Amino acid sequence: MRGLLLVLSGPSGVGKGTICQALCQRHNRIAVSVSATTRAPRPGETDGVHYFFVSRERFRTMIERNELLEWAQVYQDFYGTPRAPVARSLAEGRDVVLEIDVQGALQVKEKLPAAVLVFIYPPSLEELERRLRRRGTDAEERIARRLEWARSELEAMPKYDYVVVNDRVEAAVAKIEAIMVAEKCRPVYFTAQGGKTS
Ligand code: 5GP
Repeated sequence: MRGLLLVLSGPSGVGKGTICQALCQRHNRIAVSVSATTRAPRPGETDGVHYFFVSRERFRTMIERNELLEWAQVYQDFYGTPRAPVARSLAEGRDVVLEIDVQGALQVKEKLPAAVLVFIYPPSLEELERRLRRRGTDAEERIARRLEWARSELEAMPKYDYVVVNDRVEAAVAKIEAIMVAEKCRPVYFTAQGGKTS
């Protein structure tokens, strides 16, 4: 059985990370992809756990060698999904979660149409701003930039397969679980597994 590729996006501060953590705690066979990035680690972030922190040069090499399933520039830094671990986990029958931006998610859907795109939506823009401030890791100017970026990201929502409003983490996780169950009941998923249609 091949695993399901689940892509979670949404504006910064919407709670993708918390949802992802909660989902993986409940389903310990789900593999979370660790992205490569050129941005500097924030306090508390560990190389190889939260991201692979790489130089711009190394990132360019990864692109050239086709080692990335997708990549994008977010703010002034580069982010990308290493292809090999995703392919390996899916082949082993493990579901894989990518927590990536809108540009990357649309690239994944183009390359792997079976990927399921879920947009995490904030209860409101005011709440999103409150969450960004509460995180306290970013300077005021950065918060303003992220809010502006968030507004433009929200416009991509109709291109996704599903939208989940993150008003309560447990409720959002329950909806994602339901999406995963439903997706595995689709004929296309069934036939991709070698199931018979006649
Ligand atoms: P942060 O710097 O706050 O960790 O992430 C900034 C943005 O980059 C978030 O929207 C996050 O989802 C996105 N991001 C993280 N990893 C990847 C990746 O591998 N590819 C793409 N396209 N976006 C990513």
